Amino acid sequence: MVNEKKVTAIITAGGRGVRIGGDVPKQFLHIAGRPILEHTLENFKSTGLVDEVVLVVPPDAVDSVQADYEGFGAWIAAVVPGGKERQDSVGNGLKAVGPDAEIILVHDGVRPFVTADMLRRSVEVAAEYGGAICAIPVSDTLKRADADGVVAETVDREGLWRMQTPQTFSREILQQAFAKAFEDGFYGTDEGMLVERLGHKVRLVPGSEFNIKITRPEDLVLGERIASFWQEHLREAS
Ligand code: C5P
Repeated sequence: MVNEKKVTAIITAGGRGVRIGGDVPKQFLHIAGRPILEHTLENFKSTGLVDEVVLVVPPDAVDSVQADYEGFGAWIAAVVPGGKERQDSVGNGLKAVGPDAEIILVHDGVRPFVTADMLRRSVEVAAEYGGAICAIPVSDTLKRADADGVVAETVDREGLWRMQTPQTFSREILQQAFAKAFEDGFYGTDEGMLVERLGHKVRLVPGSEFNIKITRPEDLVLGERIASFWQEHLREAS
């Protein structure tokens, strides 16, 4: 609860995500001895800023996830099956959000290292402006190249940001954006795109270089390092 608003998080873990290797979806691979998704849930829970979670998982994992995460109790309000695309999964999650949620935060289950600061600022900004996305300014030089890898131009990076999650919105805005996107058959690569196309303002809030999305095998190596740093940091803080 931030600003007395009821906050619900939709955590997306409904992908097959096996490109990373093996046949286990990446959200269930282990770092620091525990599934990635469990780190994400624990880190969310420990902030005390999210009132409840709707967890989206692959359809064939609903029962096992419900059993594995029973310990979170009613904080996990629903475990629902994912859809074909990530946007379909978020759409399924949205249908399961309780009627009293005021702020809805969408987060990738494979980004385990979310902080209380990110959640607090996201909810505050979404409550005031309607939408907030955690993001990082681009610091590399950007170039556009053709199919043969020949540079066509250097792109001005001024004002360019990399989007992360959480992406946080007032309930009305997110529901309206999803309804319109599905009505139009529009698929975006993040929630922000669906909200922006309706002309709503979305503000950026600081993300973190630690807030990685586990995507490639090398991200597992980074994830291990960040997890051990995280543990040390929490020990020092307590
Ligand atoms: O594939 P990608 O890395 O972009 O997925 C980001 C998050 O969205 C992952 O946690 C993944 O499990 C989830 N996802 C989903 N449903 C899909 C595809 C991805 O919930 N159909």
